[in-house]
Amino acid sequence: MNTFQEMGLPKALNQALLHMQFNKPTPIQVEAIPLALEGKDILGSAQTGTGKTGAFGIPLVARLLSSSHGSALVMTPTRELASQVLTQLQAMLGQKSKIKSALLIGGDSMPKQLRQLRNRPRLIVGTPGRINDHLRRKSLTLHDTDFLVLDETDRMLDMGFTVQIENVMNYLAAKRQTLLFSATLPKNIVRIAKKYLNNPVRVAVSPNSALAPKIRQDILRISESEKYPSLLSQLDEREGSIIVFVKTKHGSERMATKLSKAGHSADAIHGDLRQNQRNRVISAFRKKKYRILVATDVAARGLDIPHIEHVINYDLPQCAEDYIHRIGRTARADAEGAALNLVSPMDKSKWNAIDRLINPGSRQSQPKQSTKKRKLQNKFQEDIVPFHKRKKPKRSTSRKAA
Ligand code: AMP
Repeated sequence: MNTFQEMGLPKALNQALLHMQFNKPTPIQVEAIPLALEGKDILGSAQTGTGKTGAFGIPLVARLLSSSHGSALVMTPTRELASQVLTQLQAMLGQKSKIKSALLIGGDSMPKQLRQLRNRPRLIVGTPGRINDHLRRKSLTLHDTDFLVLDETDRMLDMGFTVQIENVMNYLAAKRQTLLFSATLPKNIVRIAKKYLNNPVRVAVSPNSALAPKIRQDILRISESEKYPSLLSQLDEREGSIIVFVKTKHGSERMATKLSKAGHSADAIHGDLRQNQRNRVISAFRKKKYRILVATDVAARGLDIPHIEHVINYDLPQCAEDYIHRIGRTARADAEGAALNLVSPMDKSKWNAIDRLINPGSRQSQPKQSTKKRKLQNKFQEDIVPFHKRKKPKRSTSRKAA
């Protein structure tokens, strides 16, 4: 089924998809939606940027619209992702829909959430910690929740949410449909899937699918002391919005300040910011009020900002799976993007782990100390174009949060 019209979706949903300019399903949507509409449990591996939110969101909304009872719960690793997912699902429900929703995320106002819950929402999106809080307070009951989505499950487990997720399972209706999505499928995910999914169908995006991210990936082998000057020249060479990933919360603040002093417009996002501060930083980035967002892994997770053209890994991620999530910040939907990795000799083992993950079949590359950019093979795309020098961008002035 290569069109939404063939899928037998409710009319209101078809109209909403047209309105959202979802003219044609992405490959993961082609695979997952018909199976989910048949009521099957799904174990889906799809990296972010492939349309995975629609892959679970469209059947979820179809279910809510075509029945007057039952409710759906979506769990995501971060507040930002939860909020983006809810926005997308609400758009699918359409403006006229009477179906209520609740966003249950940490750092957000409790009275507001309690108010939303009193309205008997049939759609709940949230993070595992806050969902558990509400379950404990009994402000949330899930006995009529018969549709569950676990989004970016690998990340939720990495963030230590396993116990919270398993606890939520005890509150849910036994007879339910569960869709589990994850960028990677390590053993702990397979274990969760075996325990909580009923005969799941495996769904994966084909590596060569037209909508797989078109991401140029380059590596710059340099010493630690060359990293910052190289970053500055790389920023000058590139145009458009950029995310620079660093290791620590303090590091992100320091880097944004340094870049601002060097004449770039930059801001930082990290887990220590309060929710309203994070929202401000993201919203200003979305509106292109500044060009460079310096981020830690947790904070940038799931960010869906279509105009991000470059991801620069100033520090490599601690765990290789995060590499896939990081580069997925660029090349959203059908756009193109570039990822640059600054790799020093100290990063050797981290880079090897990433290399093994993105090139599972190939021989381990031996990192050599060289300043040459090396073209990478990548499992998502066969012909990765090396980074070419681009025109110098106009520099905007100071660092600005919102
Ligand atoms: P996701 O992988 O769910 O984060 O989606 C990545 C981006 O693709 C988001 O900006 C979506 O709005 C967009 N998108 C998802 N599905 C479609 C579709 N069928 N047609 C056009 N854009 C889409």
